[in-house]
Amino acid sequence: MKKLYYQDSYKKKFTANVLQQAKDEQGNLYAILDQTAFYPTGGGQPHDIGRLNEVEVVAVEEIEGEIRHYINAPLTQGEITGEVDWSRRLDHMQQHAGQHILSAAFAELFEFQTVSFHLGKETCTIDIHTNTLREEEALAAETLANEIIFENRPIETKWVSAAEAIQYPLRKQPSVSENIRLVIIPDFDYNGCGGTHPSSTGQVSTIKILDWEKQKQNIRVQFVCGNRVLKQLHEKHSVMKQLTAALNAPQEDVADAAMRLIKDSKTLEKDVENKNEQLLSYEAKELLIQHKTEDNVQAVFNGRSIKELQTLARKITELAEDSVVILINELEDKLQFVCACGNGSAANMKQLANELLSRINGKGGGNKSLAQGGGPKSMSGEDLLRAAKEILMVN
Ligand SMILES: [Zn+2]
Repeated sequence: MKKLYYQDSYKKKFTANVLQQAKDEQGNLYAILDQTAFYPTGGGQPHDIGRLNEVEVVAVEEIEGEIRHYINAPLTQGEITGEVDWSRRLDHMQQHAGQHILSAAFAELFEFQTVSFHLGKETCTIDIHTNTLREEEALAAETLANEIIFENRPIETKWVSAAEAIQYPLRKQPSVSENIRLVIIPDFDYNGCGGTHPSSTGQVSTIKILDWEKQKQNIRVQFVCGNRVLKQLHEKHSVMKQLTAALNAPQEDVADAAMRLIKDSKTLEKDVENKNEQLLSYEAKELLIQHKTEDNVQAVFNGRSIKELQTLARKITELAEDSVVILINELEDKLQFVCACGNGSAANMKQLANELLSRINGKGGGNKSLAQGGGPKSMSGEDLLRAAKEILMVN
């Protein structure tokens, strides 16, 4: 079976004979051809997609020396025409060659060796063997890589034996011992590689490092090449336009403006919290005045937060040590309550809460002086309050 992508990585269309069609263990249909321009998954480069006649090729895998073209319908026997999805392949060639160049730049400048490569859907990563990567090191590698691209050096491929291979300054030992395929950027990079590459560095167009992070013993560098750089720029610019408009600040001030906004909103949040606390103090005093003839303070509210009612109950019991406070909260389909008693009261809130919870089939808990709970709204807030008063009177 001839691998046409090794003879000419620019081959988009080809004719071939169908040798076999079969299903794999998962029941996926595939075809084997006598020759193909479809690159199978390998060496960090994803497979091609495209068409065989009118049938879609959804994946291409090399298994035990066979190249399986996974198809979504059977092919007619005999000669067929294949066409590789070129925008996808060209993108992979740009990313892959860009990776060679960036890896070589890190090795050349800092002796950081690349230990792995991943060509992702949106971005690519290499793991370089170093504990740290400084901003200026990343920038220097990126600059050198872009110089090599701009010089438009040839990218050559060569099949050699193991004995021939050792005559080249290879970045690392080839993983195969015979029929070694070298990818060479003269005077810059010599690599054993089975991927597809453009014929010159200029076609990588440009390379941009986006970010890096520690990954075990290595640093994972995220980057994009070729048309992906434009795509990234387009996306980032669109976000930036929205931000400059929303923050009413030019691009260079956007970060400061956002920081200021976050700081201001935190101050405001604290301010609102303080004001709320003050309001709850007034509300506590108000409730005590309303209930000054009784030992107990009871009220039914609508749509309050349980935390707010806990604070309110605590404030009332602090102001009136003998008081027992029962605050009910009605929500759309839930009923909540907080009960509290001051230091001077002998009542047991945990006991009260348990009895109330059994009435509404709810969940909650607390201690002798403060308890809370809630459950489905099986009765009105007023009914629950009445129940609480009865329980208190019995005990
Ligand atoms: Zn390669």
